[in-house]
Amino acid sequence: MTQARAPQVHFRTLASSLVRRTLAVAILCTLVAATIQALLVARDERAAFSRALRNIADTHVPLLSVAVWDIEPEAIRRQLQRIASEPEIAYVRLSDRTGHVFEAGDTRLREPKDANILQVPYPAGQAGAIGTLEVTANRDILLRHLAEKVLAVVLGYGILSLVLCGLIAMVLRNELERPLRRLARFTSELSPENLTRPLELSRPARPWQDEIDLVATGFRTLQDGIQAHVSNLDGLVASRTAQLEAALEEIRELTITDSLTGCFNRRHLDLKLAEEVLRSHRASHPLCLSVCDLDHFKHVNDTLGHPAGDEVLRCAAAVLRREVRERIDWVARYGGEEFVIVLPNTELAEAMLIAERMRRAIEESACEYGGREIRVTASFGVTQCRVNDDGETLLARADAMLYRAKAAGRNRVVEAPFETFAA
Ligand code: GH3
Ligand code: MG
Ligand code: MG
Repeated sequence: MTQARAPQVHFRTLASSLVRRTLAVAILCTLVAATIQALLVARDERAAFSRALRNIADTHVPLLSVAVWDIEPEAIRRQLQRIASEPEIAYVRLSDRTGHVFEAGDTRLREPKDANILQVPYPAGQAGAIGTLEVTANRDILLRHLAEKVLAVVLGYGILSLVLCGLIAMVLRNELERPLRRLARFTSELSPENLTRPLELSRPARPWQDEIDLVATGFRTLQDGIQAHVSNLDGLVASRTAQLEAALEEIRELTITDSLTGCFNRRHLDLKLAEEVLRSHRASHPLCLSVCDLDHFKHVNDTLGHPAGDEVLRCAAAVLRREVRERIDWVARYGGEEFVIVLPNTELAEAMLIAERMRRAIEESACEYGGREIRVTASFGVTQCRVNDDGETLLARADAMLYRAKAAGRNRVVEAPFETFAA
């Protein structure tokens, strides 16, 4: 089954993300501020134009009234020029009742539909108008003021935003990005071998703590926890290993031990005897071997039962093992009621003495079973290892001596004369 792979995503620094968002908010704020400013400018310009109109009505219209009544074209033009020279006014046009038209300002900017119409009354107070005055507002100035204000807002906010964003980016880089990158690198380089390596963020000393300090402290706590856990595990593994080794040793013992008598078993006898013979050849040390067989053992089984026979076997094995040197000589159960005694570094004469001692010990000892004493004897065949011997020939020769001991009446020790066979 293929594991689903995480999609590849590009990396973007925290500072860059935050600066982008701040810039977006700043642009939005700038747009809102510029719109408000534009609305305010439009309102101011409308108020200025209204004031200009009132001024025309209060100041210029009476003078125009007189000039039209007196039919003074020059005076009319002068008045119109003055009106048109007001910054809020783009164009002005007077039509008198005789159909004469006077105008001043920029004729291209005339907008008859949007223009403001003022009635020029008769100077003497008669009813009706002596003429009409068409006043067109100066839209250019409105647009210029609008552009100036909006530009000022955009520039002001823009510069402020850039300065703030730069500041935020700098602070974020120093305070957040750098320590976080160090933390990330430290974490990625962490391994079981360098678990105790201290986390260094190289931050300037300060009398307060922030979130980075909390993360670093948490991380150190985690490191200590893992370290303690690993140490515990080490201890646990060591104790488990010791338990396993002990269990393994026990199993090893079981595989080489005869369960009834506690002697080595036949399998181990074969392996260990081959080693002993090899060692004896290499070091030219004497090696002796005895085969011991309980006499008329079948009779014990037949008269007292198999469990009694087992107990006799255990007793006999214990006697044999008691008579040998610890960690040097060893006893194995060859099969049934036969045992093999291996005596490294031992001459034949000494082996004979040991066998004789064993024979007497078995003869003299009594095995208790079911409230009664069972006595048995044993026969021994003894031999010494020779130059061309291997384990099998050594055993066979000892067995032959045992056969002789049985034939000679049992409960005795027979040796294979060393000199005879050495020839
Ligand atoms: P001999 O003096 O000629 O050695 O006579 P023997 O009766 O000792 O020898 P034989 O080979 O006739 O009989 C050996 C008996 O040992 C036969 C067998 O039932 C018995 N035997 C073999 N292994 C065990 C065992 O593990 N437990 C018991 N109780 N008896 C065993
Ligand atoms: Mg036998
Ligand atoms: Mg026997």
